Amino acid sequence: MGTTDPVGRTFHVRTFGCQMNEHDGERISGLLEAQGLQPVATAGDADVVVLTTCTIRENADNKLYGTLGHLKSLKERRPGMQIAVGGCTAQRDGQAILDRAPFVDAVFGTHNVGAVGHLLAEARATGRPQLEVLDGPDPEGGAWELPASRDVPWSAWVSIQTGCNNSCAFCIVPAVRGPEVSRPPEDLVADVIRLAAAGVTEVTLLGQNVNSYGRDLTHRRPLFAELLRQVGAVEGIRRVRYTSPHPKDLRPETIAAMAEVPAVCEHLHYPLQSGSDRMLAAMHRGYTAERYLRQLAAARAAVADLAVTTDIIVGFPGESDDDAERTLEVAAAAEYDSAFTFIFSPRPGTEAAALVGRFVPADVVAARFERLRHVIDRAALRRNEARVGRTEEVVVEGPSKKDPAVLTGRTRQAKLVHFPAAGPAAPPRPGSYALIEVTAAAPTWLRGRLVEVTAEPRHKTRLPLAVG
Ligand code: SF4
Repeated sequence: MGTTDPVGRTFHVRTFGCQMNEHDGERISGLLEAQGLQPVATAGDADVVVLTTCTIRENADNKLYGTLGHLKSLKERRPGMQIAVGGCTAQRDGQAILDRAPFVDAVFGTHNVGAVGHLLAEARATGRPQLEVLDGPDPEGGAWELPASRDVPWSAWVSIQTGCNNSCAFCIVPAVRGPEVSRPPEDLVADVIRLAAAGVTEVTLLGQNVNSYGRDLTHRRPLFAELLRQVGAVEGIRRVRYTSPHPKDLRPETIAAMAEVPAVCEHLHYPLQSGSDRMLAAMHRGYTAERYLRQLAAARAAVADLAVTTDIIVGFPGESDDDAERTLEVAAAAEYDSAFTFIFSPRPGTEAAALVGRFVPADVVAARFERLRHVIDRAALRRNEARVGRTEEVVVEGPSKKDPAVLTGRTRQAKLVHFPAAGPAAPPRPGSYALIEVTAAAPTWLRGRLVEVTAEPRHKTRLPLAVG
């Protein structure tokens, strides 16, 4: 990559959707910075605007075209501005995005993140929109090697695999991101060592189904538990997180690694999707509610103070009142710390989208959703209230968005803690570790007071360009 500036002076990346997309957004920022462009906070100030799109729900598509409409009017006022669209919608729709939004300069797929600079330069040189969307598995050694620019210098995402070999009936990911490709463990560990040397103290290992990590490298022997142990042993790494595991692939070795490796955080994101065996079979999830709860009990028995979060879909096609009751029962039994609850949204190209005759009426879904939220919030409050009076370690994230006099931090269980910045000493800096005495709780946050700062941040103000 050269250091010339073929496409402008400033850029803005806007990311929709999941952490995988957030990480792609960081890599796009890293690439554009390597080309000499400077990041700016708003699209209105940018010569280049890049959107990393999500296609998991209909709402995400609407957001994309809503945002493109806004960018179109910006571009009409600033004709030199360029717009690029990447991510899952770009991978799925490709040319259709250019047909619907011909003012877009470049569309690139999930396996073509590294092409963004070249496509924009080509579009500027030729005056024609550019499209690059590669199908099939993400080529090994491709996107892993791109530089990344991180906004939070003490914490880093590390992609361990791309794609997915499952076929959940509601999910477009396998069609869009292709089959699983794992990154070799020695590369990953070398990357984490380099991140730790730059002052990163927390890493989150990212994959669509982390528990099957390594099967493509070792002829089906999953390596995830070993990877957790190796990453957890890297000097300077205080916290290791991961997302997402699939309940059908959660293995005792992974739970043992969580229990035994001090750096691995006591947080399991464990997607349920439905509590009805009938719905789980229709979704092709590969487990029953009984097996799910049995594994959850084993994880809680092995890992002290484990927080558990989940994803649940309400109103999957054919869901009956009885199925919805089963979900309420399992959610109540699981006592989640929090949950992402989604109303089913048919995604074109998925098996579930074809089940039109079995869609559940919207008012029925809304009522089920409310009841589920009530169960989830009640458990979340109970679990947070149990922490009142305890002293928790947080990594300090900085001032709260709503009130700069309040700082926020995150516990090992990924719980958000608010505490006053004012005190006898200077407030702890973002990236430092501190002990907080918890004094109050709500379903989604804790409140407390600073007891002491236990470790100052080790990172430089901004990380050098990083791999992965
Ligand atoms: S495991 Fe299922 S829900 Fe997750 S990415 Fe793969 S197909 Fe989608």
